[in-house]
Amino acid sequence: MTGLFFKDALLPQGWARNVRLSIEAGRITDIAPDSRPEPGDEHHALALPGLPNLHSHAFQRGMAGLAEVRGSSSDSFWTWREVMYRFVERMTPDDIEAIAAQAYVEMLESGFTRVGEFHYVHHDVSGTPYQNIAELAVRIATASQATGIALTLLPVFYAHAGFGGRAPDAGQRRFINDLDRFSRLMEESRQAVAGQPAAIVGIAPHSLRAVTPDELIAIVPLAENGPIHIHVAEQTREVEECLAWSGQRPVAWLMDHAPIDRRWCFIHATHTTPDELRGMAEAGAIAGLCPITEANLGDGIFNAPEFLAHGGRYGVGSDSNVLIGAADELRLLEYSQRLGNRARNVVTGASVSTGRTLFDGALAGGAQALGAEAGLAVGHFADIASLETGHIAFAGRTHDAILDSWIFAAGRAAVDCVWVGGRKVVAGGRHHDKDKIAARFRQRLERLLAA
Ligand code: ZN
Repeated sequence: MTGLFFKDALLPQGWARNVRLSIEAGRITDIAPDSRPEPGDEHHALALPGLPNLHSHAFQRGMAGLAEVRGSSSDSFWTWREVMYRFVERMTPDDIEAIAAQAYVEMLESGFTRVGEFHYVHHDVSGTPYQNIAELAVRIATASQATGIALTLLPVFYAHAGFGGRAPDAGQRRFINDLDRFSRLMEESRQAVAGQPAAIVGIAPHSLRAVTPDELIAIVPLAENGPIHIHVAEQTREVEECLAWSGQRPVAWLMDHAPIDRRWCFIHATHTTPDELRGMAEAGAIAGLCPITEANLGDGIFNAPEFLAHGGRYGVGSDSNVLIGAADELRLLEYSQRLGNRARNVVTGASVSTGRTLFDGALAGGAQALGAEAGLAVGHFADIASLETGHIAFAGRTHDAILDSWIFAAGRAAVDCVWVGGRKVVAGGRHHDKDKIAARFRQRLERLLAA
């Protein structure tokens, strides 16, 4: 049994002082506010629940910064995707494991404690399945276990290059499965995480571009009770193509043709009508917002005021991993709304503190989207981030003002320690295996980018 003592902690019912957490077998067994430390307890300043990162393509960390050169005058998401495809053509399983481990270290150091890995590279460079069809899921699981981040694995079903079941392109050969092969991939993916008690498996139909209606309905049961994630309405071109194919916009099509409920997470949902947002909110589906990637790709701005007015729930994801940071995603979520709406404090909720609202929203929505528990409570996994309250950005502040200052003024440098399942993986802002994982990443990238 481990005892952790915090001067302040954010509990589901609000801030508490002098909080002693007891942890056994990775889970919180007791929470005692207004208590005293016991001999052997570790002492820390301020505890937050670890945040879920609901959308990651870990391997893309390797190409961060490589698509920031001007191409044609119509430079957009689609030219970025060409860079991504060229990168995909060379990566070995060892490369993918090394890059994922580096991405997960950075997530943990920023205060994320669980990752939703939207995992779509399945086969070897020729497009042939590995001997274990889930070889690359095994590599993702290995990276999560080595770094300590909790994993929600979302194996991606990807079968087509466009609406109406268009045949896949050569650049997509590492992603492609039919229904039979995908059900084997799901079985082996469950095996891949069988040794990790906190791991959860869901499914991810890639997008309406990549999956036909029949295929979508056929794979939903493979999620069992796990989450279901889909990329939707990220780009206006996708909306136009969906309209041409079906007469409906992508979110509206999903609301009418798929069994949308609380298990679903709509990644991006950038280009939506008020009716679509109301439908999503009423169904309890999560909006999976990835503000840094959406800004990087020039996607557009999510209509947060309309979605929130209907009680919509959201979480944040680091998606392309071009820059990894929990506070950074929350800050840009709010700032993109300010720029788009020419107003301040646009993401609103129960608290007057925008930082607290963003944090509570992303915690609850992210946990729901990843099939996980939210918050510091008895029986939950002990997933905790502590802040360094001596950081200059926190001078004279307490409680919600510290959250506001973390998100808007301090960023990742203020994260002190991180525990996942009661295991301390970050101390003094550094992951315990940071140097070894970074050296392996560097070596892999130098080889991948040579010639
Ligand atoms: Zn994505």
